[in-house]
Amino acid sequence: MKIQFLDLKKQYTQIKNEVLPKIEQVLEDTAFSGGKYVEEFEDGFAKYCETNYSVAVNNGTSALHLAMLALGIGEGDEVIVPANTFVATAWGVSYANATPVFVDCNPDTWEIDVTKIEEKITPKTKAVAGVHLYGQPFDIDAVKELCEKHNLFLIEDAAQAHGAYYKGKRIGQFGEMACFSFYPGKNLGTYGEGGGITTNNEKYFKHLQSLRNHGSVVRYYHDEIGYNMRMGGIEGAVLSVKLKYLDNWNNRRKEIAKMYQKGITNTKIKMQVQPDFTDSVYHLFVITTENRNELQRFLNEQGIFPGMHYPVPCHLQKAYVHLGYKKGDYPNAEYLAEHCLSLPMYAELTNEEVNYIIEKINQY
Ligand SMILES: *Cc1c(COP(=O)(O)O)cnc(C)c1O
Repeated sequence: MKIQFLDLKKQYTQIKNEVLPKIEQVLEDTAFSGGKYVEEFEDGFAKYCETNYSVAVNNGTSALHLAMLALGIGEGDEVIVPANTFVATAWGVSYANATPVFVDCNPDTWEIDVTKIEEKITPKTKAVAGVHLYGQPFDIDAVKELCEKHNLFLIEDAAQAHGAYYKGKRIGQFGEMACFSFYPGKNLGTYGEGGGITTNNEKYFKHLQSLRNHGSVVRYYHDEIGYNMRMGGIEGAVLSVKLKYLDNWNNRRKEIAKMYQKGITNTKIKMQVQPDFTDSVYHLFVITTENRNELQRFLNEQGIFPGMHYPVPCHLQKAYVHLGYKKGDYPNAEYLAEHCLSLPMYAELTNEEVNYIIEKINQY
């Protein structure tokens, strides 16, 4: 048996008959950039996230960048970011000429350690960018309470958690804004690149629409320096088709996660701890073990090819040496980086494949 970390072809094959005519429709309508297919997706996605508004952009990193700009974050400001995330959470802050200030993760949930946020707050701190890591919501209420106490904005980085619930409500509606990625490998991924921002605030909504479109509301009149970060029509149309299936796909991910959680009995393996308030959509199924490289080699020999998210925590990335962090600053994030492995996780995995992975891990 050969099981890759991710197989996008299987899902495409399932929806090909529906998605190809839709793409053709975009081409026939020459609705190539922005336009009605993107608007249709924006409406659908806002409804799905239980928010008033959503703005589609060209990728998730742009979503984070524009969210910072819409909040007025800029030079001299600081934004709190978990050390253990995909680096793009921090890019959004850096692109706005502000400084990401990293916080370690909790050793069990691997989410931002709420007890370590307050010590990082300075008079320059403007916001917290929380990440729903691997599809599992962080403790939003606890972070929100700190934000309210210190007058900070809350941004959800929801790039890995489309459709997850926190205390019975969809993520994406808790902060000032939430940023999503529709990169092909995400739970909701397009054919190309895509991103989006959800918000309940009309002022942010209008500002984001202008920022992504050259800082323009009326064509050829530019009220501020803007960007070309529009979503393409094909990307929007594909997302509308796929949005209908998202809950089904997420439910299948949950089934697979349950199989892993019940089936893996090898005491050398640790999994992400899940507080009661979370309902993860398992973008990734990350485990840790003392000798990660050895486990990886073993699984490769059995035809199983896990991923790694992420081998270097943000504070130790070369790109951020100028911030002066060093090894040992965030021991939990560093432990995770050195010991994590991501098991294959996508809705199209068969029970047979999942059971095979479980069997091999238990043999390790
Ligand atoms: C994927 C991802 C992003 C960036 O999204 P892109 O569409 O790849 O730019 C941001 N944050 C997190 C947590 C992600 O996983």
